[in-house]
Amino acid sequence: MKVSVDRSLCYGSAECAHRAPAVFAFEDGYGVVRSGGAQAADDPRDREAVREAAERCPSQAIRCEEREVTP
Ligand code: SF4
Repeated sequence: MKVSVDRSLCYGSAECAHRAPAVFAFEDGYGVVRSGGAQAADDPRDREAVREAAERCPSQAIRCEEREVTP
């Protein structure tokens, strides 16, 4: 899964880091994708938490999309 945070939209509620701590961290007052967080988002156990974090981000700063599977 591709996942990113638009810092210009984020206002630092930290909800993403609580919902999906394997993928998001809270640094310098902003939500960020952890180093290796995009890979963690491919884990089925974290995928739903990432989607929920994106849907519930109060500033709609999180983008996530499935990677294209090449044959
Ligand atoms: S949930 Fe949204 S607004 Fe809150 S820290 Fe994460 S990206 Fe920023």
